[in-house]
Amino acid sequence: MRYACDPMPLPPLPRFDELDVDNRRVLVRVDFNVPLHAGPDGQQTVADDTRIQATLPTLRELLRRNARLVLCSHLGRPDPKVGFDRALSMEPIGRRLAELLELEVRLPDEVVGDGVTKLVNDTRAGQVVLLENLRFEAGEERNDPEFARALAKLCDVYVNDAFGASHRAHASIVGVPEIIHDHAPGLLMTRELEALSRIVDRLEHPFVALVGGAKVSDKLGVLVALTERLVAGDAIAIGGAMANTFLLARGASLGSSRVERERLNDCKRVFDKAAARDVAVLLPVDLRCGGSLTDSVAQVIHVDEGVPEGRMALDIGAVTERLFANTIAKAKTLFWNGPMGVFENPAFASGTMAMAKAVAECPGYTVVGGGDSVAALNMSGRADAVDHVSTGGGASLEFIEGRELPGVTALAAWVDPTFRGTRPVEGDDA
Ligand code: ADP
Ligand code: MG
Repeated sequence: MRYACDPMPLPPLPRFDELDVDNRRVLVRVDFNVPLHAGPDGQQTVADDTRIQATLPTLRELLRRNARLVLCSHLGRPDPKVGFDRALSMEPIGRRLAELLELEVRLPDEVVGDGVTKLVNDTRAGQVVLLENLRFEAGEERNDPEFARALAKLCDVYVNDAFGASHRAHASIVGVPEIIHDHAPGLLMTRELEALSRIVDRLEHPFVALVGGAKVSDKLGVLVALTERLVAGDAIAIGGAMANTFLLARGASLGSSRVERERLNDCKRVFDKAAARDVAVLLPVDLRCGGSLTDSVAQVIHVDEGVPEGRMALDIGAVTERLFANTIAKAKTLFWNGPMGVFENPAFASGTMAMAKAVAECPGYTVVGGGDSVAALNMSGRADAVDHVSTGGGASLEFIEGRELPGVTALAAWVDPTFRGTRPVEGDDA
């Protein structure tokens, strides 16, 4: 498969500040898909409110402009055949949002229906309604036109601020803006698109991509797309379990480490593409190994010695940390996705924490994306020193890969009905 290497041009989008929202019902698609945990009294509470905080500027601005707010989001993966599921109700999120906005947030116990319609129509300017979990309705993921119409009936204006969900062609993302033409991206969505565009089509070199995480297969498209945009002097540094497969492709022995043998050819293609462009591919030279993911001691092994059977590479070593950090220090643009090791276990968090420090200290323009990567960055306490921390994992990767985001195309279609972004070209191995 060949990936379209032309960066996706950002389509002309309608403007948030030009929407007429005064005393009108504004449906805002937000990404409140946040982690929850059960409190001491058994009540669910929000464990990390980063995504709620990120959309507050949009909500506050709409309230300031006298909008009647109707918010909607999905949360987790409920079974739509079951419908309402107490464990995945938006109720704890509504409570947190009410604290943050210092306003009452009204929560109907359904997504759509007569009760919801009445509640929404009774909502006055400056008031907030949060609909139940969109995925309680089977029509959401199917982009069912009838469900999209039911949502559209609840509003006069539509705002998409759910960047993290905009790579999905679901009813609340693409169905509603087809019906409600008074629509625009929210402030968070706009900020995400602008920041990620600097990685896609306004790249300042040297560019360093720091990639890691669990699987080559998840990130291969991004690696290939990035490699095709790089020039001599740029670098790709690979850590995490991903590095294992790349090291294997270079002939190293990895013992019982996690590897993806079916991806060896893809790794070789990345090496070839990078070599043809004089782009450095940096791999670990030393590894922290353990007997299992939960091992409490790390044993340092040099890649040249090889990892023995029964041992697994679970983090990069100290020499590799310095090698990667030195390269990161020279970057004018940096993109980081994927932890360097099993950072959830303190015995194998060193590499990831060292990279968080290096990225935070990098004088260039820095962007971090990916659910676990952002969690690791927050854990390091250095998120404030990064230029852009993306709220979208999958969406940010697809955007950087040059794929069209259906949620962005849906907003653009009204301004420019001919706009279609680039897509991967199947079956062409050029
Ligand atoms: P992101 O969510 O930032 O895109 P991924 O989901 O791709 O990142 O990868 C994160 C996961 O990769 C973490 O759970 C981490 O424990 C795991 N991981 C990283 N390095 C290794 C390794 N060497 N062996 C096994 N798992 C790893
Ligand atoms: Mg992840």
